[in-house]
Amino acid sequence: MNRKNLETRRRFLKKSSIAVGALTLSNACSGSIPNSDPDYSIPENGFHGKSENRRDWSGDIRSGKVIFIAHCVLNQNARMVNVADFPAMHDQLLDYIQKAQVGIIQMTCPETYCLGLGRFDVRVGLEHQAGMERLQRLIDDLIFTIQEYLFQGMEVVGIIGKEGSPSCGVNQTWYNDSGHGDGQGVFIRELKKKLKHNKLDIPVIGVADHKQNEAIEWLEKKQILT
Ligand code: SF4
Repeated sequence: MNRKNLETRRRFLKKSSIAVGALTLSNACSGSIPNSDPDYSIPENGFHGKSENRRDWSGDIRSGKVIFIAHCVLNQNARMVNVADFPAMHDQLLDYIQKAQVGIIQMTCPETYCLGLGRFDVRVGLEHQAGMERLQRLIDDLIFTIQEYLFQGMEVVGIIGKEGSPSCGVNQTWYNDSGHGDGQGVFIRELKKKLKHNKLDIPVIGVADHKQNEAIEWLEKKQILT
C-alpha cells in the first residue's frame, strides 16, 4: 500500500471509529419495535382480510405451501464482507425444498436493508432507534405477507433464519464483545415479538451454513415432502 492509500485508509478507519462511537453512545435511546399495527387498506380495492378477496385456489396445481427464508440462503452476495460460505446459495437445503414443492419467499436481508452492503457494525446499527424504525417497516411487510397467505388458506410452513448471525440467528448469534454465543439476532427477536403480538403461530428455525441437514431433518418431521 503506497503512502497516499495508507493515509486514505487511516482517515477512513478514524471516521469509522468515530461513527461507531457515536452510534454506541446514542444507542442509549434505542428500544424495541413498538406493537403498532399499520393500516393496509387501499380504497376501492377489496383488500387484505376482506371476505370478497378470499379466493378458491384449487383451480390449478399450486402446492399451497410457502416457506420464508433468510435472504442470504438464496443470495450469499448479501453477506457481510468476507463471510460468504458459498458462491451463491445453500444448495442442499434449497434442493430439498424444491423437491418438496414448497414456494420460497426470500425475506429481505435486514442488514442490507437497514445498513447497506458495506456495513461494519451490525448490532450497534440495528439496535439504534433509526435502525429499529427501518427494521419495523421490514417486519410489518413480512407480517402482512404471512397474514395474507394464511387468510387465503395456504400453509406457511415456517420461517428459516440463519444461525450465527447478529440479525437472523435463531439459537446462535454474534455479539460484538464476545463473538458467537447462544441467543437471537436482532431481526429474529423483533420478528418473533410481532408474530406473537399478531397471534401468528409460525415456527421459526435457523439453518447453520455447514449443518443444513439439521434444517432438512426439521422439515422432514413436518412431512412437507409429499
Ligand atoms: S444472515 Fe440475515 S442479515 Fe445476515 S446476510 Fe443473511 S439475511 Fe442478511
